[in-house]
Amino acid sequence: MAEPQQADCIFCRIARGDIPSTSVYETDELLAFLDINPVSKGHTLVVPKAHMEALFDMPSALGGPLIEAMKRVGAALMQATGAQGLNVVQNNYPAAGQQVPHLHWHLIPRFEGDGHEAWPQGSYRDAEEMNAVAAAIRERL
Ligand code: 5GP
Ligand code: ZN
Repeated sequence: MAEPQQADCIFCRIARGDIPSTSVYETDELLAFLDINPVSKGHTLVVPKAHMEALFDMPSALGGPLIEAMKRVGAALMQATGAQGLNVVQNNYPAAGQQVPHLHWHLIPRFEGDGHEAWPQGSYRDAEEMNAVAAAIRERL
């Protein structure tokens, strides 16, 4: 659940100003700074200042300000880098590639022919299997 800050969390420490970051934008609730190991130059992280691990821990009221910040920073970084595209990526839990357990969104500038491949896509065995998966999700909503 959302906690104000955690002492040993790298992004909490950045939000507190205990360790430096290359900041590009800040509000009362959110911070945007350059990823230290960018997929491409301008790769930016948008981070709630309060500690929360994953999407499910985020107060829904933060959704509006978050989208505003991502649109604003995303447009600026596309202009600044000359990118023709932008990926918005957010990983939840280690199985999905989350390395830093403090909620964050990646804004990744993309260029025609930059060679960054998307995930491989699979298929369902048949319509019955696809329908069963959808039904299992619907039952839990
Ligand atoms: P995740 O895999 O958790 O979605 O992404 C974590 C991201 O945080 C990685 O892309 C990594 O390069 C970035 N990162 C990790 N530590 C630091 C840091 O100390 N400063 C900055 N600016 N980025 C960091
Ligand atoms: Zn944290």
